[in-house]
Amino acid sequence: MPRPITATIHLSALTHNYAIARQHGGAAKIWAVVKANAYGHGLAFARQAFDGADGLALVEVDYAVKLREMGWNKPIMLLEGFFHASDLPLVQQHQIDIAVHCFEQIELLEKANLSADVIKVHLKVNGGMNRLGFQPADIPAAYQRLCAIQAVRVVELMMHFANADDEFNPRLPVAEQLRRFEVAQASLGEVKLEISLSNSAANLLNTSIRESWVRAGIMLYGGSPSSAAAADFGLLPGMTLRSELIAIQEIQAGDAVGYGSRFVASKPMRIGVVACGYADGYPRHAVDGTPVLVSGVRTCLVGRVSMDMITVDVTDVADARVGSEVVLWGRGLPIDEVAFAAGTIGYELMCAVAQRVQLIVED
Ligand SMILES: *Cc1c(COP(=O)(O)O)cnc(C)c1O
Repeated sequence: MPRPITATIHLSALTHNYAIARQHGGAAKIWAVVKANAYGHGLAFARQAFDGADGLALVEVDYAVKLREMGWNKPIMLLEGFFHASDLPLVQQHQIDIAVHCFEQIELLEKANLSADVIKVHLKVNGGMNRLGFQPADIPAAYQRLCAIQAVRVVELMMHFANADDEFNPRLPVAEQLRRFEVAQASLGEVKLEISLSNSAANLLNTSIRESWVRAGIMLYGGSPSSAAAADFGLLPGMTLRSELIAIQEIQAGDAVGYGSRFVASKPMRIGVVACGYADGYPRHAVDGTPVLVSGVRTCLVGRVSMDMITVDVTDVADARVGSEVVLWGRGLPIDEVAFAAGTIGYELMCAVAQRVQLIVED
């Protein structure tokens, strides 16, 4: 028998969340973002759940090829484009669209021995986030050089928001990013390209954006892209991380629990030991008080997270015993609440679910 920890993937929830992205997107098509093994949910399950999507977007070339091998024949896009010239034969052979975000990539394309197969390029604008993309003033030069490459067809202008969850951030408001994008777009004159701007936060929170393609990630998996609860957007958890109690300790006032004796009981307590630790992807930075469900009852973490175990307060969980079900996050316990208590975001928890945790699928 494997250890009792599992991550159940709720396919119907993923499909439901996709429908919400579609609804908010209006007429826009949807790239379902499946990078990082579909935010930890398993690429094959995501491919199944998002069968209706217009395209799948990710950053890993090898996983893009896997999607073709799984029979996905609609568009695939590499959000960061290719990394090395040696990626280009695969890109061409499998008809994988690429983002192009820097002149170095253009130079590699110019020098490559490309076949005749068309590579669709999504030209990326740096709207002030200063991570990937061309400055608006460089867009015409980038566009012209790409157009001069026989096998390349520029199909889209894309941009990524730094603050879609915080529209009026004074350092870079959404409106300022949109203004810079419009400068880039206008610099191409009559050229008409498709447009892709929104991530989940922009899709859910900014209803005025008009675009051809939305790039939805976290919302598809039931995580919130902002400080609002995912449920407030009608999103359902895509994953439930479950385990079991493997031991119970009865302790007295003054007794300490776990490494560093971080938690000290102020009264007699029952401590449940759960088969789940940081080597499963549970965040080591989780503080005492981080929520946990034991036998459906909400209780909390007490003591430091170990590699393979956590300790939880089951004093008031009357029927807690060895073998009782523990939910770490998912149905009944939003992942964002656990993430908050660990000083991180739901994205990181999903993506960090370890290889040794078996993914099981449920409808
Ligand atoms: C990951 C990613 C997205 C999806 O972002 P979410 O916040 O998860 O919706 C969109 N666009 C790009 C370029 C990305 O890298």
